[in-house]
Amino acid sequence: MNKIGITTTVPIEILLAAGYQPVDLNNVFITTPNPERLINIAERAGFPLNCCSWIKGIYGACLEHKIDTVLGVTTGDCSNTVMLMEVLKLKGIKTIPFAYPDRPDAQLMEPALEALAKTLNTTLDAAEGVREELKSCRRLALKLDELTWKQGVASGLENHLWLVSSSDFNQDYHKYQKELKELVEKCLKRPPYPPDWLRIAYIGVPSVYGQDLYKYLETKGARVVFNEIQRQFAMPHPGNSLAEQYSNYTYPYSIYDRLKDITAELKKRRVDGVIHYVQAFCHRGIGDIIFRNKLKLPILTLEGNDEFSLTHHLKTRVEAFLDMLQRSRRRNKTLQEV
Ligand code: SF4
Repeated sequence: MNKIGITTTVPIEILLAAGYQPVDLNNVFITTPNPERLINIAERAGFPLNCCSWIKGIYGACLEHKIDTVLGVTTGDCSNTVMLMEVLKLKGIKTIPFAYPDRPDAQLMEPALEALAKTLNTTLDAAEGVREELKSCRRLALKLDELTWKQGVASGLENHLWLVSSSDFNQDYHKYQKELKELVEKCLKRPPYPPDWLRIAYIGVPSVYGQDLYKYLETKGARVVFNEIQRQFAMPHPGNSLAEQYSNYTYPYSIYDRLKDITAELKKRRVDGVIHYVQAFCHRGIGDIIFRNKLKLPILTLEGNDEFSLTHHLKTRVEAFLDMLQRSRRRNKTLQEV
């Protein structure tokens, strides 16, 4: 199968139907042992210091892994992707644009998917067949999500890793399915996390801290029970067609569509506090104003750039946030008792 780089979650059913193996370049970048090196490749090529690290990392990953075709999302993801694609073109890499409609509407999505299928010499019927094949992977990912927040037997880190990987199913969906099934079976035999641990929601784009944030929270008696965007990658509302599935996927659309999903999940998952991660130099960071205005829970906003672990300063901020949540929990308990 020919590899095709992707810059975010896209309708991979169409890519697979066309005989391509999607490779999520974000995952390649962040899981490489030395992500700074990929950023250096981009900066040596002239990417400015004040450009988002994910964009530079995607560029570096693309060159290092000799990816010759990239599908980039021009509407509904990142304002920098269009220029990234222009630079990739300059380097002789074939770029294919895909634009999510400007609002979640299956009737608008259908022609966008048709056009992509046509560009890749396949059909939507063939892609619907792949959708059926991928359903068991998506169901397993959502089962793991339930084991995280409901049964409390899967960790926030496991949740993050398996859900974020559903953008390309770790480049091999058969292997993904087998390994995730084994993990789900293992989780079902575990004792649950202590019920008094703080329940944290992680919203925003995946962070550059890798596994550090999740592990650190657990050392302080707190765990992530909701990974917002990662869960969206697994398509929690698949609908009855590809057009419906990718219209129900909230990430490409207005922040108010994301808010509906977030507020419902915060309540259902009995979340104590929210960590909103924003990437330095990313337009999405401005959305913090809206989250702070609309969400009724305490929010800690963390901004990351190119530090690939939690610095001492960040740990102190996270710890202070957790202390505040613990105090407010104790206060509410006392008020309920009097
Ligand atoms: S973090 Fe923001 S600027 Fe960076 S790639 Fe993602 S959407 Fe684009």
